Amino acid sequence: YAQLKNRGGSVIYNDSMRKQVRERLELETDLQDAIYNKQLYLNYQPIVSLETNQITGFEALVRWKHPKRGLLSPTEFIPLAEETGLIIPLGQWAMMEACSQLRSWQQKFPQLSAISINVNLSGIQLGNPDLINQIDDLLDSVGLTGESLKLEITESFLMENLMDNSSIANKMLEQLKERKIKLCIDDFGTGYSSLSYLHHLPIDILKIDRSFINPKTNGRKNSDIVKSIVNLAQDLGLALVAEGVETPSQLAMLKELKCDYGQGYLFARPLEASQAMEFMSHQFN
Ligand code: C2E
Ligand code: MG
Ligand code: MG
Ligand code: MG
Repeated sequence: YAQLKNRGGSVIYNDSMRKQVRERLELETDLQDAIYNKQLYLNYQPIVSLETNQITGFEALVRWKHPKRGLLSPTEFIPLAEETGLIIPLGQWAMMEACSQLRSWQQKFPQLSAISINVNLSGIQLGNPDLINQIDDLLDSVGLTGESLKLEITESFLMENLMDNSSIANKMLEQLKERKIKLCIDDFGTGYSSLSYLHHLPIDILKIDRSFINPKTNGRKNSDIVKSIVNLAQDLGLALVAEGVETPSQLAMLKELKCDYGQGYLFARPLEASQAMEFMSHQFN
């Protein structure tokens, strides 16, 4: 909680801070309810092959329909969920929901058996020794194999937690690999990875952060940066996804540089499950 100390060491604790603390506590209680009262739901954003223009999968993105505050984006509550530990049940719910959804799509469209679902994983979940059992149980109950599931972990988390070879997180990554669950580094390029360390990690996919694809202020030629990430991915034998593709010229640049996959508003925004289904059905007409 935000607290300021003045020179004498006593705490200045004003009304606005009191309000902040109260709102945070409220949101925390609300989030607990939300998980059990079905106020959370997932959106699905297509990931597209730049070579074939086919959808290869979807990223599941959580949303919260708050009874008083309206629709909240994950950036407004995932950090809170991480601080309070609620990310464990939330993350478990998200994975279950995403996998059941994929399974039900596959049953409707047998052509879709190769489509996969990406689920975001918080570092805290990766440090939970129970995660692998939860994943085994849920894949089993839904009727999917590990090949259909991809997990996204941010670069900054990986770099903070994986330098120690004996860590729980490291073992978890190995266990995921045994199940053919693919691992993506999310927001790649923003977390100052030690490049020499990258090839030691059991990862399969890099997702280039959207700030390199769609720079707001950057005057530098972003294509140079993207090009070096494309080369890096090739050298390491990793697949590459560009996040935040918004314009045809960005798409042209990515195709020219031979980036494998793209995701972004140009293809589709994150969609509700029914819209995602509709979007996919065009692929088979
Ligand atoms: P992320 O995993 O990097 O997800 C991509 C974000 O970029 C999404 O924001 C998506 O809506 C947005 N995006 C996609 N295409 C474009 C584009 O063309 N332009 C722009 N400007 N934005 C685009 P969203 O849905 O608000 O999610 C924000 C972050 O919240 C995610 O970033 C992820 O880190 C986290 N998150 C979402 N769902 C979950 C979850 O189930 N568990 C965990 N642990 N984190 C989640
Ligand atoms: Mg992600
Ligand atoms: Mg990302
Ligand atoms: Mg992000």
